[in-house]
Amino acid sequence: MNSEYAKYVFAEDVMKQRLDIELFNRFKAIRDEGKALSESVADRVAEAMRLWAMENGATHYTHWFIPLTGLSAGKHEAFLSGVKNDHPIYTFSGNMLIKGEGDASSLPSGGLRATFEARGYTAWDPTSPAFILGTTLYIPTAFYSYHGEALDQKTPLLRSMQAVNAAATRLLHLLGETDVKSVKATVGAEQEYFLIDRDYYSRRLDLMVTGRTLFGAKPPKGQELGDHYYSRIRTRVMAFMEDLDRTLWSLGVPSKTRHNETAPAQYEVASIFSTVNIALDHNQLVMQVIRSVARRHNFGCLLHEKPFDGVNGSGKHNNWSLATDGGENLLSPGDNPAENTRFLLFLAAVIRAVDRYGDLIRLSASSHSNDLRLGGHEAPPAIISVFLGSQISAVLDKVASSKTDEAIAIDKKAGLKLGVGQIPELFIDNTDRNRTSPFAFTGNRFEFRAVGSSENCGAAMIALNAAVAHQLGEFLAEVETLTAKGEAKEKAIFEVVKRYIKESAPIRFDGNGYSDEWKAEAKKRGLDCETSVPVIFDSYLSESSVKMFEDTGIFNKKELHSRCEVKWETYVKKIQIESRVLGDLAMNHIIPVATEYQSKLLDNVSKMAALFPEDLDKKLSAQNRLIIERIAGHTSEITLGVEKMTNERKVANKIESEREKALAYHNNVVPSMDAIRYHIDKLELIVDNEMWPLPKYRELLFVR
Ligand code: ADP
Ligand code: MG
Repeated sequence: MNSEYAKYVFAEDVMKQRLDIELFNRFKAIRDEGKALSESVADRVAEAMRLWAMENGATHYTHWFIPLTGLSAGKHEAFLSGVKNDHPIYTFSGNMLIKGEGDASSLPSGGLRATFEARGYTAWDPTSPAFILGTTLYIPTAFYSYHGEALDQKTPLLRSMQAVNAAATRLLHLLGETDVKSVKATVGAEQEYFLIDRDYYSRRLDLMVTGRTLFGAKPPKGQELGDHYYSRIRTRVMAFMEDLDRTLWSLGVPSKTRHNETAPAQYEVASIFSTVNIALDHNQLVMQVIRSVARRHNFGCLLHEKPFDGVNGSGKHNNWSLATDGGENLLSPGDNPAENTRFLLFLAAVIRAVDRYGDLIRLSASSHSNDLRLGGHEAPPAIISVFLGSQISAVLDKVASSKTDEAIAIDKKAGLKLGVGQIPELFIDNTDRNRTSPFAFTGNRFEFRAVGSSENCGAAMIALNAAVAHQLGEFLAEVETLTAKGEAKEKAIFEVVKRYIKESAPIRFDGNGYSDEWKAEAKKRGLDCETSVPVIFDSYLSESSVKMFEDTGIFNKKELHSRCEVKWETYVKKIQIESRVLGDLAMNHIIPVATEYQSKLLDNVSKMAALFPEDLDKKLSAQNRLIIERIAGHTSEITLGVEKMTNERKVANKIESEREKALAYHNNVVPSMDAIRYHIDKLELIVDNEMWPLPKYRELLFVR
């Protein structure tokens, strides 16, 4: 396996072998320090890449990017550039590596591109290594418009990494850690998914088109026994997982954990964390590869947040932290007072950032599909709060309530003494677990659990990095103001930390996030409890959001507008498609079958009437008469429901503003879909099993 790891990655050691040392060092300066790339360096790197790729079976290359659809995209071009005397000529120049350009007018831009300047450009991201998938060399790229506005997640993500780096490094220098050169945000993504037998999967139009079941009666057994989580992995699923890990490892994706998840047919794969940019590309690759590996094993893989009603949906926990170039984790409690000062400072700043920009952090994980999962007694609620665990909470409370010169003596050399002794080293394995919190401290990192399984984690990481960078920047400014007034640096730092802890008290919650009491309590605390997704999207355009994103250089106002537009547009389109599929299945599949069964019963009743005297007939056919009536009731409700839903859609589609349209879909179309589902699920329990046209939950979830 060793030699197979990263076999298809144009990794650092491959480059070292294939570029001369001077060229390799130049490349590293470009990658690590953002130095400008000259054409001759680009040409030579490109040629080395092509030779390596072709030796490993590639014939094509693609500029791989993730537009705002959240799905990987790219056009494949052959290395073949011409033919001379029947001999192929292969070319891959520096220009071809660095920049791609194409008619991207069909990709969402939220109004950033007028049709006359529909071009989108892709730019090589040298911080994320190229790799070969099949016969194509994939070059990770950023995607932006003619005027340089971001049309993807990578561009703002890289900007957010820069912002965090700048603010955190300055802060560390202030603390005296002048040897730190850079700070990077890190993330480890846990990916949940479902596997469904492909034969059943391909017989469910809703699963194939929308990624979720639009109806389906509850099976006799769900997840109530808790017998799937961590249980023995079935042979067929294991064969799939082994294949998946092998494929991911060959692509340099360090998948580490695999297990059965809570719902039947639900699983998880988690990779070892790395810097957010690479981890994001890796997670995107996981989502791409997992589907094709599933197909090889005759499974359909569902990445949707809520493929089945009544059992858990899928998330993508984002484990986030900050690390220095020396490999130190800034959210790891240390074992000496100076390290603990640093820990406390970063911890307090992150909590304060989440407190201030919780709405943006929640927005980053909000979508129609995730809305079906969040807050459903299985996944974090849509209210953002921070869980810290009893020990850390006690330390913070102690800091907040202490007078600077009393319990906490300031020792210039050693940093802050907390008056609670050193923060025990045990912390790392000793943090309490709270699965109900959307944003939980887990010993040396925060776990943002609200992110959906089908989402690119870029949006979440951008929001978090941005908020934290902004808060760290303010922290610096506040400390500088105090020291300018003559206050000692250590004391100034302590005062700001203390204030942050006090100010962000409302966002801290260690109790049960699923409970109704919490909803009431959160409201009392003044936390944002909005549940309407189209309204949640508004936060992008709030004054504080625009200021924060502009100050940190991550989004300008125009880009925020475009993202908001795309969010509303996507929200509408997803529901629109679901609603069409539901209408089709209801009218052309369910109703005809239910009616046919009803005719059979009617036939039976009339035959009985012909055979038996009236009293006896009434008694004997009572059951069938009842079913006939029920079928009539449900089919007419479905027919009326589809009509209503279609009308709601028509009315909504006429609305010009994307926001208002999204609201109309949220307020009117979704409820009418729910009503139709109710009646279809009732019919499923009545109609002859032999006749029912679609695989049921019990088959989808239990037959493997
Ligand atoms: P859980 O118990 O939450 O299910 P997993 O083992 O499934 O934990 O996933 C934990 C994730 O956290 C892994 O991806 C791991 O690499 C990641 N992780 C660990 N330390 C850090 C860190 N300092 N920064 C970011 N992610 C981290
Ligand atoms: Mg896990």
